[in-house]
Amino acid sequence: MVNNFKFSVLDGHIDTIKKSSRDKRDFSVRSEIGHYDLPRMDEGNVQAAIFAIYPASSINRILKGLDLWFKFVFNPLNGLMQIKRIDDFAKIQASGKRGAILHFEGAGGIDKTFRLLRIAYRLGLRTMGLSWSNVNKFATGVMFNDPQKETGLTKEGIKFVAEAQALGITIDVSHLNEPSFWDVYEITEKPIFASHSNARAIVNHPRNLTDEQIKAIHEKHGTVGINFVMGFLNAKEPGMYNYNLNFDSIKKHIDHLVEIASIDIVAIGSDFDGAATPTCVKDCSMFPRLWDYLLENGYSEQDIEKISHTNLLQVFKKTWK
Ligand SMILES: [Zn+2]
Repeated sequence: MVNNFKFSVLDGHIDTIKKSSRDKRDFSVRSEIGHYDLPRMDEGNVQAAIFAIYPASSINRILKGLDLWFKFVFNPLNGLMQIKRIDDFAKIQASGKRGAILHFEGAGGIDKTFRLLRIAYRLGLRTMGLSWSNVNKFATGVMFNDPQKETGLTKEGIKFVAEAQALGITIDVSHLNEPSFWDVYEITEKPIFASHSNARAIVNHPRNLTDEQIKAIHEKHGTVGINFVMGFLNAKEPGMYNYNLNFDSIKKHIDHLVEIASIDIVAIGSDFDGAATPTCVKDCSMFPRLWDYLLENGYSEQDIEKISHTNLLQVFKKTWK
C-alpha cells in the first residue's frame, strides 16, 4: 500500500448539506450513512469541497439553502471554514479545518437585475451553474428525458455570464444542454468548468460531455470533474445502478479525458451525497484507494496531484478575484 496521504482532495461537487440534514446525520461523527462527514474527510484527505445549494431555482429556495448552509458551515463542531479567496486554501491547511465553497446549482432563483447574485457573491458564492437540468430565464439544462429542449442561453443568460464572471464567480457547465453550453463557450474568455460530468464517449448518458465539449473546456483552460454516480459510470447500462462498478470504470473516463485533451483537464466532482455510488467509492474515505489504483495503472504522483486538487485550484486562481 502506497502512502497517499499527500494527495489532498478538492472535491468539485457534493450535496452533503442538504442530504445530511435530511438524514439527521451529525457531520462531526463518523457514520456509515451517506458519503461525507468530518472523520471520513480526514480518512480520505479531503481538504475542501464545493458544498452545493440545490436546487437554487427560486428566491425562497435560495434563502432556505443559504440559511442551512451557514448554520452547517459555521457550526464549530463541524470543523469547517468557508473558502472565499485563494489564500484561504493555505489557511485551512494551517488551521486543520476543512474548506467549504459556496455553490448554487442552477440560477433560476436569481433576479434579472442580478441583485441577489451580487449579494450572494458578498456572502461567498464562488461557483455556480446556470440551470439544473431545466429551463429557466437564463439557460436550458440537459433534460434526463426526451424530447430535449434545444434552446440555448437567453439574452439575460448572456448578461448573467458576464456579470457573474466580472464578480469573480466560476461558471459551471455541468447540467447545461448542448446549445446553452456552446453559447457559454462562445462568450466566455475565462476558464469554465464542468464540476461533475463524465465522458459521453465512455458512457452514453446526456449528463456526460461529448468529445467536442471536453476539447472546448480544455481550450478555455477549464476542468472536468469526474462524477462517481453509478449511472454516469455504467458503460453497459447508462443511467442504471450497479454497485459493483470498479475503479476501472472511473479510470476509463480519466484515460479518455487525457487522450482527447490532457491531464490538465481532469478534476474530481464526486457528486457524493447526491446519488448512489459504487462500493469502490462508497464514500469520501475511499479516495486514497482510487489514487493507489491509478498509481498502479500508469498514472504518476504528479498526475494524481493534478487530478486530486491542483487542476481545479488553477481554474479558481484564474476566475476568482
Ligand atoms: Zn448535479
